[in-house]
Formats: sequence, structure tokens, C-alpha cells
Amino acid sequence: MNTSRWETVIGLEVHCQLKTKSKLFSACGFVFGAEPNTQTDPYTWAHPGTLPVPNREAVRFAIRLALATSSDIQQRSRFARKHYFYPDLPKGYQITQSDHPYCLGGHVVIPPGVRRPAKTVRLVRIHIEEDAGKNTHLAGKDISLVDYNRAGVPLLEIVSEPDIRSAQEASAYMRELRAIVRYLAISHANMEEGTLRCDANVSLRVRGTQAYGTRCEIKNLNSFKFLEAAINAEVRRQTALLDDGGSVVQCTMSYDTMKDCTRVMRTKEEAADYRYFPDPDLPPLNIDNAWIADERSRLPELPAARRKRYAAMGLRDYDVDVLVGDPALATFFDRTIALGGDAKKVCNWITVELLARLKADRKRIERSPVSPARMHELVALVESGTISGRVAKELFDKIYREDLTPSEVMARDGYQQMSDPNLLEELVTKVLANHPGQVEQYRRGKTKIRGFFVGQVMKRSEGQANPGMVNQLLDALLPKPEN
Ligand code: ADP
Ligand code: MG
Repeated sequence: MNTSRWETVIGLEVHCQLKTKSKLFSACGFVFGAEPNTQTDPYTWAHPGTLPVPNREAVRFAIRLALATSSDIQQRSRFARKHYFYPDLPKGYQITQSDHPYCLGGHVVIPPGVRRPAKTVRLVRIHIEEDAGKNTHLAGKDISLVDYNRAGVPLLEIVSEPDIRSAQEASAYMRELRAIVRYLAISHANMEEGTLRCDANVSLRVRGTQAYGTRCEIKNLNSFKFLEAAINAEVRRQTALLDDGGSVVQCTMSYDTMKDCTRVMRTKEEAADYRYFPDPDLPPLNIDNAWIADERSRLPELPAARRKRYAAMGLRDYDVDVLVGDPALATFFDRTIALGGDAKKVCNWITVELLARLKADRKRIERSPVSPARMHELVALVESGTISGRVAKELFDKIYREDLTPSEVMARDGYQQMSDPNLLEELVTKVLANHPGQVEQYRRGKTKIRGFFVGQVMKRSEGQANPGMVNQLLDALLPKPEN
């Protein structure tokens, strides 16, 4: 429970880079991580005589996000020029939607977390704009380099209402937005690569009051960790100021990751005048209802719906989060469970064994050497009692490394299921005879010790005894427990 006199108020401006094939206003393609200045064309360089042509796919992606957030799509929106001089901006202005964005309102529901209930964050607007290039200032040298690969790449800017109340809530909101755009397949939304980044507006107000305090905007936060740390640092700064009887001056700040503090970049007086005006080279953007209806009919299942579906299967919140957090992983789970089996057990094999191996190999689930069909077969073998958990792990290891099904490995490596009743009875009898003390404990009511006998039989059979039959034999051969 936060007992501070001040309540934190946060609004986020999130930039999400779209993964369209070409840039927002030209046919120039772009690939992340390409050699500097290879993803460019005369329009990117702003050569005289080049003109912008809006990218239909970018608008389509924008519509998808608007639908997923219940934002109100405007039939008509407008592109404007936002002027500033900086080497990363060849045209001398950025094309953005300032006063007429393509959609207004909407909301994102943050799922509940640890000691944090679900929460709805309202959106002010979403708009389409182009990204700028990238400057690199060489440390200790007097030169800067500029890479125009990113210049003109489409972005969606998602502006929230100041509905967020803590750093954790801010990062939970970002995570949900990231999940949504990934499910929509419109962005890689990778904070490390800069395809998802945000500015955080932070202010304080006396707890229990309505009016907002003066905000400061922390620019360019590019990891969940730094987003939370920067907000916390800014809250500390503003709290100290206000507790001292001072007041917050509206400004733009940067976060120093080394010193874990926020620093003023510029105050409101120093704010640039961008001289916005409608871009004369671009007509208004019209989005008709037929187009919206068509996109609506093609929306995939979104994270919130998937979360509900998994919870109904009885999966734990933690597992639901792990699966839903990665649409490819969730799809892998869906394909496996579609073949049958217990949801919790299937989930466990995927999120524990498979994920651990993939992580160690730095492989994404899309490149999993074990297919959903093989995963299903393995879990089914355990569930039917055909193989023990220990053998299953061995098999898993083999089907991960080799392109074989579990039954192919069993046949090849001589994993015979030991299910000869006479042999098994002999084994179980021997185990009980060798552990009279434990049998006595069992008889006195310590029935938990049963697993010990199963383990012993498995050990003696080198994991090959049929676990179902072993259990039946134990039922028959163990003494009746007291009570
Ligand atoms: P600008 O374009 O100048 O940054 P906006 O009105 O578009 O201004 O607001 C930007 C962001 O600031 C929004 O996400 C909004 O929720 C947030 N915001 C506005 N007022 C406050 C406040 N008092 N405290 C925290 N965030 C705020
Ligand atoms: Mg702003």
C-alpha cells in the first residue's frame, strides 16, 4: 500500500513501428539491421520532384489497431507537416496527423497482475506518422553519423489519457499494447530494436483530489525496465520538490540510466514552434465503412479473449500470461491441445521443458524442432501410463535433437514398455520385500509413501515399467492403510 501524500498520474505516448513492406509514403522497402543508408530512395532523401503516396497497407494496419482498441475511426483525417531542423530529417519536416487524427478515443484493458486488479486505460487518440532517421554521435570524436534507413518508416502513435497510476501499471499497459499489436501482426513491437518505444508524462496530485498537477514528459524510453525506473525516478524528483514547498515546472526530460535520475532537456518556453500546416501534397485520408467492415471481419482472436479461454481451461494465471505473451507460443499450445490431452499437462511440457530448451538454444518457438504433433504424442504416452515421467524426459531430449517421433525413438532405442504382468508382479513384490519399514509406515497410514514404491520399481526397471500397471499391482500387494 502506497502511503505517500501524493498520487502519481501518468499518460503515455507510445510509438509503434509498423512492419509494412515499404515506407509510409514511398515504395522504398526497409529491413531492420540493414547496412546504414541502404534502405533509401529519392523520396527518403527528399530529392526535389519526389512526392508522397500513402501506403495502403499502413492504413490497413492502423485500422486494425483502431478496431482492436475500440477507437472511433474518423472517415476523414488529414496529414500535416511538422517542421524542425535536424540532420535525421531530410525534408525538414515530419509528416504526421496533428489536429485530425484517423481515430479518437478507445481503450486498452490491462489484465490483473500481482496485487494489481484489471484496469481500463482510455485512449485520447491514435495517429499515423513517419519516423525520422537515426543520428549516431561518436564518443570522443567530433563527428556524427546519420542513417536514413528508418526515415519515412510508418509509425502509429498511441496517446493514452492520464489514467495510469504507477510505474508497474505503465509497463503492464505497454505489455498489453505490445501483445495486441503482435496479435494483429502489424508490428514486431520490440523495445530493444526500437520498434516499440514511449514517452511518459508524469505528474503528482494530492491523494484524493481531482485536479491534475503539472506534468513533465520523459522522452524515448526503450525498455520495460527503464520505463519503470524512469517513472520512479521522476516521481522521486517531483515528490522532493513538492514536499519542499516548491512547484513542478512543465518540461521535457531525459532519463539517465547510469545515474538513475531524470534530467531536464528543455522547458516549455524553449519548446519549438513546429509551424504545423496541412501537407499540400497529400489529399485528406478517407476510410470508408466497407473497408472498416472488411478489416473487422478479419481480426484475429485478441489477447484478452485468449486469456479468458485459457483461464476457462483451468490454467494458472502465470501460465496464461506466459502463453498469451507470445502469440506464436499460444498458437503452438493451441495446435497441441487441439489433438487432445490435459490442458495443464500439455501447458507444463511446453512452458517448462520445451521453453527451457529453446531458451538455451536461443531459438524462437516458430523454430521449435519438436512439432505440436510430437509434443502431443509424448504427453499422451505419459498420460496413458505407457511411459514414466523419467522416460518421457529422455524421449523429449531425443525428439528435440533428432527429427523423430517419440514412438520412432522408442522402437529404435529399445524402449520396450515393460508390461508383462508376471515380470512386473515379481518386481513389485521384490521392492516391497526389500523395504519392510516403508511398507509398515504405509500400513500405519502414511500413504504418501506410495510414490517411493513407484520410484523404486521404476528404478529397477530402468524406467520401463508401465506406470499404470505398477499402480494396479501396488493396490493389490500393499497392506490396507489404517483409517
Ligand atoms: P503534448 O502533445 O503536448 O505532449 P497532449 O495533450 O497530447 O500533449 O498529452 C500528452 C500526454 O500527456 C497524454 O498521454 C496525456 O494523457 C498526458 N497528460 C496530460 N496531462 C497530464 C498530467 N497532468 N499528468 C500526467 N500526464 C498527463
Ligand atoms: Mg507529448
